[in-house]
Amino acid sequence: MNKLKMASEKSASRVLMLLSQLERLNEEPKVSDNDAIRQTTGKILHLIQTQEKTRKEVASKSSGGMEIILSSLENTQDLQTTLNILAILNELLTVGGGCRTGVFVSKGGTALLLQLLVGSSKDPPANEELMLHIHSLLVKVGLKDRKLGVKARLNGALNVTLNLVKYNLQNHKLLLPCLQVLRVYSSNLVNAVSLGKSGTLEIMFEIIGPFSKKSTTLLKVALDTLASLLKSGMNARRAVDRGYLPTLLTIYQDWHRNDTRHRHVVIRKSILGCIKNLTNIKLGRKAFIDANGMRILYNTSTECLPVRTLDPLVNTSSLIMRKCFPKNRLPLPTIKSVFHHPLLHIPASGPVAKLYNQPPGVDDVVDESDENEATEVDTENDTEYDEDETGPKTQNDDIETDINKLRPIQMNTRPFDELRLNHFFLSFDDDFESPRSVIPPSSVNSELHRPIIIPTTPSSLGPQNRRPPQEDLLTPKPDESPLELDSISISKRPEGTSDPDLVCSLGRLVLDAGVNGGSVDGPQDEGGEQAVLEVPDTAALLPLHDPDLYLEMVKSTRSVPAYTEVGYPDYFGHVALNLREPILERVYGVQRMKIFQDIERLIHPSDILDKVVYDLDNQSCPVTDNGESLKFNSKFESGNLRKAIQVRKFEYDLILNSDINSNHYHQWFYFEVGNMRPGVRYRFNIINCEKSNSQFNYGMQVLMYSVQDAINGSPHWVRTGSDICYYKNHFSRSSIAAGGQKGKSYFTLTFTVTFQHKDDVCYFAYHYPYTYSMLKMHLQKLSALRTAQIYYRQDDLCVTLGGNSCPLLTITAMPGSSSNDPISQFRSRPVVFLSARVHPGETNSSWVMKGTLEYLMSCSPQAQSLRESYIFKIIPMLNPDGVINGNHRCSLSGEDLNRQWQNPNAELHPTIYHAKSLLQYLRATGRTPLVFCDYHGHSRKKNVFMYGCSIKETVWQTNVNTSTCDLHEDLGYRTLPKLLSQMAPAFSLSSCSFVVERSKEATARVVVWREIGVQRSYTMESTLCGCDQGKYKGLQIGTSELEEMGAQFCLALLRLKRFTSRLERHNHNSHLLDMETDLIETRSIPNITSPTTYVLEEDEPAFLEEVDYSAESNDEIDPDLEPDLQDNHAPQTPILTQT
Ligand SMILES: [Zn+2]
Repeated sequence: MNKLKMASEKSASRVLMLLSQLERLNEEPKVSDNDAIRQTTGKILHLIQTQEKTRKEVASKSSGGMEIILSSLENTQDLQTTLNILAILNELLTVGGGCRTGVFVSKGGTALLLQLLVGSSKDPPANEELMLHIHSLLVKVGLKDRKLGVKARLNGALNVTLNLVKYNLQNHKLLLPCLQVLRVYSSNLVNAVSLGKSGTLEIMFEIIGPFSKKSTTLLKVALDTLASLLKSGMNARRAVDRGYLPTLLTIYQDWHRNDTRHRHVVIRKSILGCIKNLTNIKLGRKAFIDANGMRILYNTSTECLPVRTLDPLVNTSSLIMRKCFPKNRLPLPTIKSVFHHPLLHIPASGPVAKLYNQPPGVDDVVDESDENEATEVDTENDTEYDEDETGPKTQNDDIETDINKLRPIQMNTRPFDELRLNHFFLSFDDDFESPRSVIPPSSVNSELHRPIIIPTTPSSLGPQNRRPPQEDLLTPKPDESPLELDSISISKRPEGTSDPDLVCSLGRLVLDAGVNGGSVDGPQDEGGEQAVLEVPDTAALLPLHDPDLYLEMVKSTRSVPAYTEVGYPDYFGHVALNLREPILERVYGVQRMKIFQDIERLIHPSDILDKVVYDLDNQSCPVTDNGESLKFNSKFESGNLRKAIQVRKFEYDLILNSDINSNHYHQWFYFEVGNMRPGVRYRFNIINCEKSNSQFNYGMQVLMYSVQDAINGSPHWVRTGSDICYYKNHFSRSSIAAGGQKGKSYFTLTFTVTFQHKDDVCYFAYHYPYTYSMLKMHLQKLSALRTAQIYYRQDDLCVTLGGNSCPLLTITAMPGSSSNDPISQFRSRPVVFLSARVHPGETNSSWVMKGTLEYLMSCSPQAQSLRESYIFKIIPMLNPDGVINGNHRCSLSGEDLNRQWQNPNAELHPTIYHAKSLLQYLRATGRTPLVFCDYHGHSRKKNVFMYGCSIKETVWQTNVNTSTCDLHEDLGYRTLPKLLSQMAPAFSLSSCSFVVERSKEATARVVVWREIGVQRSYTMESTLCGCDQGKYKGLQIGTSELEEMGAQFCLALLRLKRFTSRLERHNHNSHLLDMETDLIETRSIPNITSPTTYVLEEDEPAFLEEVDYSAESNDEIDPDLEPDLQDNHAPQTPILTQT
C-alpha cells in the first residue's frame, strides 16, 4: 500500500497526511494507540464534514483512502473510533452517490458492516448511535449491492435489524433507517419467508395505519416492506389468516377519503401494492371478494378517473380487480367444434388423437381441479429459490443448433414411378400444342344440386324464417309473418332461365339450382311491397367477379355443415376502397374503460341481460324475439360464429367456433349482423380468442361490409370499429385447450361500431374474406384470359378430406414455334413453385396470390417475358376445407397442415402429400424449382416480409462453437427478398429472417429447402394490419396493396431471371449466385446478421397504456419482479407461431 507518495509532496493535503498516519497505525496496532487512532479518525471526520474537497481526496482511488478506512474499521475494538469511521463513511457515501458506494462495496465494506452489526448486538443494549450509523450506511449500500439481502442472511443480520425495529417503534430516528434496511432485506424471497416467520408482518401492521400527515416517509417504507414480504405465498397466507386484507382495504379507503389534495398518492399506491401481492394467492383473492374488495376498488377508482395524476392508482386497482374477478366458464357445452367431420384414419398421437380419446361426458370447458386449493404452486417452495441460484437464461432456444439438421438431405421415400403416376405431371413434350381445356372445378361434385340461400335483411333472420333450406323450397308455409316494408329484396336472373328463380324474399335470397325451375321461397308471394334492389354492378371494377358464376361455384363446394346460404359480400364482390385507411390511433385508457365495463357486470348484476341470441349448439335458438336484439348469422362459407349473447342492451359477447376436429384456434371470424338501430354504439366482444397479443392493440381495425352500402354503389369491405382493444379476460381456458397448462384465460377482442342504416345487414370479418368458391370463380375467369401466347392449365392436385378439389395451375408461355429451339427453351425453363392459404385464417395470402395470378395472366410484355422465363406451378389454396368451414388454422384433420411437410399422410393430409410428391417428382426429373414460396399472413407484425433458410445465419445466431468457415453457402437466398424490398412498397427487408427454427422443421419452407434442395425456399408473410415503413407507412393494408404485392413478386422474379440469365451467358457452369452477390453488397456480408437478426414472435413495443394487457390473473409470482423465479415454475406453452 504505497499509494501515498503524493503525501510526501509539497501539495499534500492535511487529510492525506492523516490517512497516511492512520495507515501506519493500522499496520502496527498497539493497545496504547487507541487514543491516536481515535484522534486521527476524529480529525479526518472533521475535515470531511467541513470540506467537500477532502471527501474527494479520501474517496479517490489514488489515495487508497477507502481501504485504509475500512482496514481501521476492521481492526479497531474502540467504540469511539468505530463511530468516527462510520460517520466518515456516511459522509462519504452520502455525497458521492453510487460511485463511492460502489468502491465501498467492492472493497468488502458490506460484509464488514454486517459483521459489526451482528457483533455489537451480542451484548445488549446496543449503542443507538452505532446502530443508527450502521443502518444508515446499509441503506446506502442497499442501493448498490444487489446481494445485500443474501449477505445479511448469511451473516445472521436479519433478526438483529428486525429486533431493533420491534423495540424502537416509537423511536423514529432509529426506526426509519432500520425499516429501510428491512425493506432491502425483504426484497429477497428467502429472506421474506424467514422474516415472515419471525413476525415481521405483525410488526408492519403496528406501523401502518389510517390517514395521518405525520411520519409519511416511515409509513411508505413500512408499506413497501410489507408488499415485499407478501410476495411470498407463505406470508400472504399468513396475512390473509390474520384478516389483514380487509384491514388494508379499510386503510386504503381512509387514505382515499382524506387525501383530498392527492399529496400522498405514493402511499395510496403502496397500499394497493400490498393488496396486489396478497391477491396473488387464491386465498387472498377469496378474501378480497369476501371483503367486498371489487366494489371498494371499483368505486374508489371511478372517483379517481377524472384526475390524470391518479392513473397509477386506477391502473393498479384495475389489475387487482382483473385478478380477483371470479373465473367464468365459457357458456358452451363443449369446446370441441360444433361440427364434426369423421376421420377415416385417426393419427396415433397428437392433438387429434387426444380429442378422439377424450372419454365421453368429460367437461372440457373448464378444469375440474381449477377450484382446488391444492393446485397452487406457491407456499413452501418459496425457499427453494434464491437470486443466487438462477441459471443463465437461454434466449432463442428455438433456433436449430444441430448442424446435421441444417444440411440438405435427400429423402425420396416414394418410388419415382409412383410419383409419376400420381402426377399426370406435365410432360412438356405433348402438352403445349393443344392446351387442354380447364377442368371446371365444379365438375368434381356437380351432382350436388342444392338450393343456395343468401341470407340478408333482419326480418329474414326471425325465428319463423329459420328453417332448414330444403323446407324453404319444398314446403312453403302460408302462415309466415307478414312482410316488413323495408326489407331488402334482390332479384336476379340466373343464366338459362327467364324466371327470376333467384329471389330474395324477406331478405333471404334463395337460389334454386335449376331442379325446380320456378320454385320460390314461401313468403315471396307476399312480396308486393318489397323494394326490389339490383345486385351492384361491379363488372367493370371487378373483372374476375361474377355473382352468377359465384353461385354456380358455391353449389359444388362441400362444407361439413352443408351450408346453403351465401354471404352477401362474397356474392356481390368487394371493390377495394380508394381512400386511405390509417392505422387507428389508440385512445388513451381504452382498455381500462373496457375492463371497468366488464367489472360492472359483477358490481351491477341486475343490468345484465345474458340473453342468447344465436347458438349453433342449440338449433332452436333464438326462442323469442322482441325486436330488441341484433340478429346474427354465420351459416355460410368461411363463417364461424358459434354463439352470441346479448349482455346489455347494446353489448354482445360472441364466441367463435373451434376448427373442426379441434378444440381451439379461435382468431378468424366472419359473421353477419342484422336488426340494428342506426346511430347507436354497439359494443362487440369476441371472448374466446387465444393469442396473447394482437395487432388489434396496435391500430388494426375489423372489417365491415354493409349490404345497404353495397346496393347503393359502395360494395366495400371497410376498416371499422372504435375503442378497439385486445386483453386477457375472466373466462377460464381449460388445460385441454391450453397445451396442458392450467389456470389460463381467454382473451377478448372488443370493438365498438355505430351502424349507419336502419335494416341493414352488415358483415364483420377478421380480414378480407376470400372463400374457396371465390377462388374457383377467379380461376374460371382467369382461364378465360388465355391468349395464344399463354399456356394455362388447371388440374386437380387431389381431392380433399371434405370432397373438394385442390386446384393446381401451370402457367407459362407457349413456345414461339414448334421448331426445335423454342421447344428446348420451353423445356429448359426453370420452375417457380408457389402456394398459399395453408392457414385458412390468413385470407391476405389469397389476395396476394390473386395479384400474382392476375399478373401472370396479363398481356403486358413483362408478363409475357416472365412466362417465357419460367414455368409456374401454383397451388393457390392448400387448405380448401379449412377455408370453406371457417377454420382458422387447421384442415379437417384438426391439424396444422404446415407442420406436416416432413411426413405427410396421404389420407389425412392429401394436399400436402401430393404437393410434396409433385416437388419430389420435379426434383427426380431434374427440374428442382428455382424458387419455392408459400404465401402466409402474419397476425402480429406489420409489413410484408419473408422467412428463408440459411445454414450460416442459423449457426451464427446460436453462437454455437461451430466452425462456419468450412460451410459453403451461396447467398442467393437473399436476392429475392432484396429485390422485393426495392420494388414492393409494403415489403420490409429488415423484418426478414433466414434462421431455421426447430419448431418450423416440418413447415413447407424448411422441408422444401432441405429435402427438395430448393435454395430459395420461402414463406412470405403479409401483415393483417398495415405498414410502418415505405409508401404505405401508417396505413392499414387493403386488398389492392395485397394484390400489388403479388404482382410485384412476379416482377421481382423477372429481375431475378435477368441476373441468372446474364450469368448463363457468361459461364453457364458457374454458380449463378455469384452474380447475385453483387446485388447484396459484398461488403455487408460479414455483418449479415445485423439486418435480419432472429426475429422474435412479437416486435411491437411494450404497450403504452400502463395496464398490463396480458396480466395473468393466476400468476402466483409477479412476472415483472421475479422473472427468474417464474422460469423455474413451469415450461412455457409452446407459442404457436405464424408461418
Ligand atoms: Zn400461416
